[in-house]
Amino acid sequence: MQADLVIVGAGMVGSTLALALERSGLDICVVDAGTLAVAPLNPDAPFEPRVSALSAASQRILGRVGAWPGILGRRACRYTDMHVWDGSGTGQIHFSAAAVHAEALGHIVENRVVQDALVDALRAGDAVELLGGAPLQALTRDGDGWQLELADGRAIRSELVVAADGAHSAVRRLAGCQTREWDYLHQAIVTSVRCAEPHARTAWQRFTDDGPLAFLPLQRGEDLHWCSIVWSCTEAEAKRLMTLDDATFRAALGRAFEYRLGEILEVDPRLCIPLRQRHAKRYVQPGLALVGDAAHTIHPLAGQGVNLGLLDAATLAEVLLAGLARGERVGDLRLLSRFERRRMPHNLAMMAAMEGFERLFQADPPALRWLRNSGLKGVEALPELKALFVRQALGLSGDLPELARA
Ligand SMILES: Cc1cc2nc3c(=O)[nH]c(=O)nc-3n(C[C@H](O)[C@H](O)[C@H](O)COP(=O)(O)OP(=O)(O)OC[C@H]3O[C@@H](n4cnc5c(N)ncnc54)[C@H](O)[C@@H]3O)c2cc1C
Repeated sequence: MQADLVIVGAGMVGSTLALALERSGLDICVVDAGTLAVAPLNPDAPFEPRVSALSAASQRILGRVGAWPGILGRRACRYTDMHVWDGSGTGQIHFSAAAVHAEALGHIVENRVVQDALVDALRAGDAVELLGGAPLQALTRDGDGWQLELADGRAIRSELVVAADGAHSAVRRLAGCQTREWDYLHQAIVTSVRCAEPHARTAWQRFTDDGPLAFLPLQRGEDLHWCSIVWSCTEAEAKRLMTLDDATFRAALGRAFEYRLGEILEVDPRLCIPLRQRHAKRYVQPGLALVGDAAHTIHPLAGQGVNLGLLDAATLAEVLLAGLARGERVGDLRLLSRFERRRMPHNLAMMAAMEGFERLFQADPPALRWLRNSGLKGVEALPELKALFVRQALGLSGDLPELARA
């Protein structure tokens, strides 16, 4: 087989990139290790454990590539407020969409829902070749392009390969791209829980002595009592929490969350995910680009991972379309470097901020404890500064690609 562009990974980022380039005139092939089967619509189905807090910028990107109606038609929870507080002090902060005259701070959506809506949109368009159940096995240079070998025996030659195959990217490994990695020695327990009190369309985050604990609002029909939780803690504590029976886990979770939403009434099966922050030293080589988690995995603390990945996808599409309009080759390193120059500083800044936050909230010395408490209180007392944070989180500022602009 022959293609102009092969996107390895049809997750949220790879599928978005494919849709953004659907009308580029390029021969595009998307390969994924998974089957790409779309789950039947069932509004009462149990929640998937992996969810994402999608910003307004991500909503705009997903809307412009035609996937947002498919997301809303499945299941998504709009949230308008966010409460963050320090469990070992008195510092707290409240962000509200109303403060910047916005309708929402974002939406909490199951990753599966986003991916299914994207795959539906790709199948409806019929312009992109989708190969499911086809993990990439080998990648070799072939002149000014690449030869890809899939596990099912198929081979594809392509001028440009985009790695959208997630945190453990096979493309990144096979192409010899180097990364910097930080192990937090922390794990995240994720699951969905039903609380006694409704969540009030609010995302809640408490910084505990062990790490941050987030309750993200979910919606099933009119029921606003379900939350997705991300509980970051040390490896030993995660191991202990994973072995508790449901009733003991619910009690421990309720206590750790200071019963802000009352008792925890139900809990779904738990998943434990190791937390690593990873950043590729370069996002591009001749004929190759890394996007999304293949380029950077960030602490889930701020819920920014896929938001950064969707901005990567929208920016790479914009750079490639501009290059094509000027008659440039899509594998040209100078063209691909424009993508790297626009995205790397932004991603690094976000990762550095998360790293600083993580350290500040893990730190126990009284001076740092005082700093984080007075910091939270200080920002809380400055409405202008808070509004600035909210606009940043909504994706209303910075160097945004066209697809993400209001
Ligand atoms: C606990 C936790 C909570 C999070 N919460 C948030 C949040 O609230 N907001 C947010 O923005 N982000 C969040 N994130 C991050 C977010 O989940 C990721 O950034 C996002 O899933 C990355 O998307 P992606 O498309 O780059 O990669 P992935 O979602 O990992 O998709 C990769 C795709 O590549 C395919 N693939 C893998 N290997 C191969 C191969 N060899 N050949 C072919 N295909 C392959 C896979 O099947 C998959 O479809 C969280 C992460 C964690 C761990």
